[in-house]
Amino acid sequence: MKLQIRLFILWMITFCVVPFENAISRDPGSYCLISDQVIVDSLSQVYGKNKLIPKDFELQCLIVLSHFPELKNTHIEFVIKESFAPLSALPKIGTLFLGGDKRKFQVTISDKSTQYMDPILLKNLPFNAQLGVLGHELSHIVDYLHLSWFELIAVAMNYALNPSYHAWMEKKTDLITINHGLGWGLYTYYKFARSLAAKTPEANWANDYYLHYNEVLFEMQKRPYYNEYFLPNTLFKSRNLSR
Ligand SMILES: [Zn+2]
Repeated sequence: MKLQIRLFILWMITFCVVPFENAISRDPGSYCLISDQVIVDSLSQVYGKNKLIPKDFELQCLIVLSHFPELKNTHIEFVIKESFAPLSALPKIGTLFLGGDKRKFQVTISDKSTQYMDPILLKNLPFNAQLGVLGHELSHIVDYLHLSWFELIAVAMNYALNPSYHAWMEKKTDLITINHGLGWGLYTYYKFARSLAAKTPEANWANDYYLHYNEVLFEMQKRPYYNEYFLPNTLFKSRNLSR
């Protein structure tokens, strides 16, 4: 028993108490919740420009921003408030007609929704799932970044009125997230969300609009970035995505 405890402590030291730079470069699929202010500050210096980030999700937002270097100068406010959708990302209305880096975006993080949405609010997700779903929202911003105001309005109308377009757009956004190295986070999020939706018929509508977690894996397998997890000699690489 004592040996097991010692092995567990060794595992914790090896995989959880590593410097952030090592965590990000060695294994982007298994981030740990490291509450070290020095790490948060160093990430903030590089990726925190023009960003307003609530303390509650500071580390998560900064890790995800580090996967989107093209958003380094983009104005993004992460705002926690009551909202039906667990997360959403939209241009700020007052800046809709501005182009380039002048346009500002808001990521709304819901802290209160309906009873069946509550389990998938950001605050209730595993850490890696939080990264995946925040990555999905930043992927929307990447998608909106170079659209004119007229194109943005057309996208919004199509999204609201055409279910096929809605599904196409959400699945395209999932692919952008996978392309930015957050496939494991997305996989964790969808596995978690679908397991809850299976028990809640009201939540099943969302399944048609997003990739299934097995489709996320399939798309990851096609990309060299994730090779180390799918090559035959790494089939038994252990993963713990629930933390
Ligand atoms: Zn979306």
